[in-house]
Amino acid sequence: MKNTITLIPGDGIGPEITEAMVKVVEATGVDIKWDIVNAGAEVYEKEGTVLPQKVIDSLKKNKVGIKGPITTPVGTGFRSVNVAMRKLFDLYACVRPCKSYPGVKSKYSNIDIVIIRENTEDLYAGIEFEQGKKETSELIRFIKDKKDIQIREDSGISIKPISIRACENIIRFAFQYARKSGRKKVTGVHKANIMKYSDGLYLEVFRKIASEYDDIESEDRIVDNMCMQLVQKPELYDVLVLPNLYGDIISDLAAGLVGGLGVAPGGNIGKKIALFEPTHGSAPKYKGKNKVNPTAMMLSAVLMLRHIREGRCADILESAVAQNIKEGKYVTYDMKPSRDDPTAVGTSQVADAVADKIKLLRNI
Ligand code: NAD
Repeated sequence: MKNTITLIPGDGIGPEITEAMVKVVEATGVDIKWDIVNAGAEVYEKEGTVLPQKVIDSLKKNKVGIKGPITTPVGTGFRSVNVAMRKLFDLYACVRPCKSYPGVKSKYSNIDIVIIRENTEDLYAGIEFEQGKKETSELIRFIKDKKDIQIREDSGISIKPISIRACENIIRFAFQYARKSGRKKVTGVHKANIMKYSDGLYLEVFRKIASEYDDIESEDRIVDNMCMQLVQKPELYDVLVLPNLYGDIISDLAAGLVGGLGVAPGGNIGKKIALFEPTHGSAPKYKGKNKVNPTAMMLSAVLMLRHIREGRCADILESAVAQNIKEGKYVTYDMKPSRDDPTAVGTSQVADAVADKIKLLRNI
């Protein structure tokens, strides 16, 4: 086999959408062997850990994986397996293409934006000082001493670190991505006018790296203006590169512009390992009901196929998914004009319909 890919089905709706994805990927004729391993709370019962060593070993060996969503149970003390994997493998770039497909319910029809979000630092670094704790009072005193700024005593504090190294990594990744995928423009998003030493540093690095890529247009936008621009004229934007928090918010905004979570794929990419997954979660209430939309998982497989340089299979799969959505016959409830439409089909019927289209596109 040419490619061995780590396959993590996840839990909740994960296994159903994974099965649908495997069916359509295999229909393209691509030479892939799946190395199936799993993680999450259900695995904990059997293996005593939410992230078994064999998952880690498989990803280290194969370098590329695709996963279904994994539930983070509330109030049980389990950390998010998703966050743990991003940290462990230093998957510093989150890539989320947001593209209009005719047939998907949306207010817009001409969007083709890729959001590239930094995954490792910013307010997400988890440096939290709880209100009322001794260490928080000490920090408040330290800030008064050093900066002559009095933070209210009853405050909680989250710290926002932004480093040159992480900025360089993500911004260079965005320009390389633009170059490789034939895109024309990269927009750097920030709030440098207010946060001069964190977002200001991000902007400085953005401008420096942009100057190294003569073939790609560049511009920067303040994040609040960016939100308005995306709502008013999203067709003007191509690749956006953002620090972690703005990336989190804007990628959901952009997913909303193109029709929501059911069609939003993603990938978390590091220097050595890449792990693709849909943007949505495990939707536990639909588990095992053959009801949910497998499109975001299938489009995540399109990204995975492009990553392993199986561009032709990726194009065939994307065309088949797009045709199926456009025809609107074999689609799940969330793609219908009303959510209780009796003509909606289930997850596995979508997979059958997309696999049939792939056969036609391949002339077999
Ligand atoms: P969710 O994405 O699971 O669900 C949000 C809404 O979207 C729900 O109404 C759900 O039914 C619907 N939905 C989601 N996917 C759908 C699909 N493919 N087709 C049709 N409808 C779909 O978000 P949530 O409820 O906030 O999270 C549920 C669990 O998933 C949580 O434990 C969360 O931690 C986890 N989660 C995991 C990941 C991941 O594995 N990367 C990402 C997000 C959330």
